Order: sequence, then C-alpha cells, then structure tokens
Amino acid sequence: MADTFRDDSTLRPDSLAVHAGRDDLTDLGVHALPIDLSTTNPLDSLESGGACYDAMAGGGAPPEGGSAVYARLWNPTVARFEKGLAAMEHAEASVAYGSGMAAMTAAILATTRASNKGHIVAVRPLYGGSDHLLDSGLLGVDVDFVTAEQVGDAVTPDTGMVIAETPANPTLDLVDIADLSHQIGGRAPLLVDNTFATPVLQNPIDHGAQLVLHSATKYLGGHGDVVGGVIACDAELAAALRRVRAVTGGLLHPLGAYLLHRGLTTLPTRMRAQQRTARILAAWLRGRPEVDRVHYPEFTDHEAGSGLLGTQLRGPGAMIAIEMHGGVPAVETFVSSLNLFLHAVSLGGVDSLVQAPAALTHRPVAEHARPAARVVRLSIGLEDADDLVEDLDQALTAVTAQRPSESGHRSPVLSSV
Ligand SMILES: *Cc1c(COP(=O)(O)O)cnc(C)c1O
Repeated sequence: MADTFRDDSTLRPDSLAVHAGRDDLTDLGVHALPIDLSTTNPLDSLESGGACYDAMAGGGAPPEGGSAVYARLWNPTVARFEKGLAAMEHAEASVAYGSGMAAMTAAILATTRASNKGHIVAVRPLYGGSDHLLDSGLLGVDVDFVTAEQVGDAVTPDTGMVIAETPANPTLDLVDIADLSHQIGGRAPLLVDNTFATPVLQNPIDHGAQLVLHSATKYLGGHGDVVGGVIACDAELAAALRRVRAVTGGLLHPLGAYLLHRGLTTLPTRMRAQQRTARILAAWLRGRPEVDRVHYPEFTDHEAGSGLLGTQLRGPGAMIAIEMHGGVPAVETFVSSLNLFLHAVSLGGVDSLVQAPAALTHRPVAEHARPAARVVRLSIGLEDADDLVEDLDQALTAVTAQRPSESGHRSPVLSSV
C-alpha cells in the first residue's frame, strides 16, 4: 500500500482539485470515485466491532481495516470528498453535512452546547439563513451581532465561536480575516463562511480562521443538483464536529458526496471562467442609468474592505449585486424580463441566476439588518458573456420603458449611453 500512496501536499491548486482525496483508488483498482451506499457494515467480532464504534463515537475514523459499523458514523465516499476539500482549504480535515445550514448548526453546537459555552459573536451581514438561525434562539445560544471592528470587545470567556462571512451574501462586503483573528487573540475559534469565494479565491485558514464553512450546494457542486455543506478545520475540531454529526444525524448522502467530489475537479476552471464573465458584466452594468450602484469587490468604491482584493481574496469572483434606480417596481420588471438569467434563489452553478435578496433569501433577517429592497443579486454562470449582456440589456430597457415619465429631465435614450 505504502508504495502507491501519493503525497498530494506538493501539488498546485488546479492539480489538487483533480487528485485530492483519491489516493486510495489505485489500490482499489478503480479509476472513478466508488460510491458506497451501505447503511450498515459487517462486524468481525463483538470486541472489534465495539472498538470501531468507540473510535467513531469519539469523532475519529474506523481503525485501519476495521468496520465502519453504521453510515451515521462513517461513509468512505463521504470521507474521500472530505479529504479532497480539506486539502483544497489547507486544512487537516473536513466534515460534510446534508446542507450548509446543517453544517452551521453542527459548528454552533460543537463550539457552544457541547463545549459548555453559551455565546456566539456574529459579524453582519450574513447569509439570511445563517442570520435567521442565529437570531431565532432555536439552539439556545446567546448571539451578539456586531460589526467587524467590534469583534474584539464582544468576545467574552463564555464565547464559543466567532462567525463571519466574506465576501458576504448578498452585498459582497469584505471582512479582514487576519484582523478578526488578531482581535480575538485565540479566545475563541473563528468560523469564516467561504461559500462565495471558494478555496480557489480564498483560504481563510491561511489568514487565521479555525473553521471554514461552505454551502457545498453552491460553487463546490456547481451544477444545481446537490444540497450539501462542509466545514474544513483541524483534526481536533473535526472530531468534535463528527461527534455532533453522529448524534444529530445531519448527514451528507454518499451520492451527494460523489457529485461534490467530482465537482471539485472543475471548480478552479469554472470559477475562473465565471469570474471572467462577471468582470465584464459588472463593468457594463456600471454604465447603465437604471443601476445606481454595482457591488463588486473589484471596484474601489466597494464599501467594505476593497483593499483585501489581491491579498486575502485572490479574485473578485462571480457574484454581483446591483441597486436598481427605480426601486421595487424596477426590480420586479427586471427579474421578470430576464430570459437567460433564471429568476431563482441559490447561486454558484453553471447557469446564471437572479434574485432579490430582501424578498427571498434574506427575508427572515431583522428589518434593520436586511438588504435594501432595491438590491438584486446576480450569480454569473458559464454562458457567453455577450448573450448575458444582451439579456441584461433587454431587461433593463424594459425597466426604462415602464417608467417613461418618472423623471422628465432624463431621456431614456440619452441616459443609456
Ligand atoms: C446558501 C448559503 C448557505 C446555506 O447553505 P444551504 O446549503 O442552503 O443550507 C450558507 N451560507 C451562504 C453564504 C450561502 O450562500
């Protein structure tokens, strides 16, 4: 076995994406990722079965050659994906779940209720579902929502975890991870939601984060056909996360793990191609009179943390948020006039999507923290940039046509130059 084991640690990111988590395939005599759908596994004896159970109940892997016992404790197809994603995030391990929110729930439980802590510090803005979970009190944890500058003062001896998201959903605000880590000073682990950037554009662990969360539903899967979540971290935190997963059962199904692992191989290529198109569209949208503001990390007027582009964040990514000049009626006309962009929530797939966060993904967020109703979020896919520009053009023209008399001084023909 040892002579066919390959050391992936020296591979460059694109090669890692293709090969990580696959080092046992040659010994298995297969080329494609094997899918193990077993819910239960043969036990050698009472004693060895019990030892395997104990190893996994403690958050570890089954002993070499030992039984995986039961699929809520361990699944080799899921474990391969976890190994691959961990390598891409420069982490020792990762733990996968049935959704991004199941992953977030497990991280909260593992660092608070399971660790005798009762407090979380969360930096807004966050994805609406994360904000809602934290604000709902459902998990019995006290949460302080703060700005990035207030984190150091908000951490107390009872704080189990600090949570931040960068770039944040939906306005792409950037948070300085190294600065947060400095403010926390080792008093609590820092979780960064890296869903928008992916490991292709940002590795939060390199800047001082301890936990990196992904809604794998988005870019990692990339094709809109898997719901999943994953957290990359060190071995000790991974054991705590696996213990919570084994007890609460928020599992990723092995078929989902197979698709996500396959998705990793094209992630760098997809991300670069989608980003290339997004840069074209963001610049084009900026010149449109129907759009008051374009939120995109590349622009120097981008409110928070634009200086982090090129250092913490290696590229601006493929998500754009725009503020419609005509408010909610313009948003309504715009999203319903688009043809190639699908009006739907979610993001990060090969096809372009559009949605208005205040009406949908961020609906449950407290009103004062909710994105403005005129904000529209665009997820740029792999279509030809010219086709996407044409679609945006005809939809924005429809917006202008809707309000011919709104501002008499502003001729639609002149203002669309
Ligand atoms: C979608 C999303 C989540 C939640 O993930 P699910 O897979 O939908 O549970 C968390 N964070 C961000 C940034 C997201 O976009």
